[in-house]
Amino acid sequence: MLALAEIFYSVQGEGTWTGAPAVFVRLAGCNLNCRFCDTDYSTKFFATTEQVVARVRELGAACPMVVLTGGEPFAQRESSALIDALRADGRRVHVESNGSIAVTLPDDVWLTVSPKERLQPAMAGRANEVKLIVDGRVPDEWLADFRGRAIPTFLQPEGNKRANVELALAAAKARPGLFRLGLQTHKFIGVP
Ligand code: SF4
Repeated sequence: MLALAEIFYSVQGEGTWTGAPAVFVRLAGCNLNCRFCDTDYSTKFFATTEQVVARVRELGAACPMVVLTGGEPFAQRESSALIDALRADGRRVHVESNGSIAVTLPDDVWLTVSPKERLQPAMAGRANEVKLIVDGRVPDEWLADFRGRAIPTFLQPEGNKRANVELALAAAKARPGLFRLGLQTHKFIGVP
């Protein structure tokens, strides 16, 4: 049984896939406790993998993209079975993870890693894109873990606060071949 916070149909507001319609499955719980966390990942209901797949189908029958997010999706062991079930249902699965729990993923799963602490080398090596949260500083110490990987690296200003936007923008302009400014565009249009 999976513990879930919410399932909804919206658009991806962040990263490489910004603007793509997607069904979001927010798994409950997280193994970290970041001070800037603004996500409600508390458990709202429980469901089997089959029930989650059915709900995804109900909300976005024609939508190829499903985003597993959290909390930390891999904090629940059953998330791997959910990924397999969604792929078997014809969905392209994306996962947003803090990268602190090492898992093996099928090649066709898109992995976004947003490191905060205890980043696992296997997850840094598997990431398709990186999201660094800028909160008073640019946490570029994580770059060493992704060294040599030519993947998009987004600097996301925490809370869209002006000071964080300015820090992220200055860092992106200083290293344009490395960083991209990452904005939570869904918040600008008031959708989840
Ligand atoms: S890893 Fe993400 S979801 Fe977990 S506490 Fe940190 S910001 Fe929140």
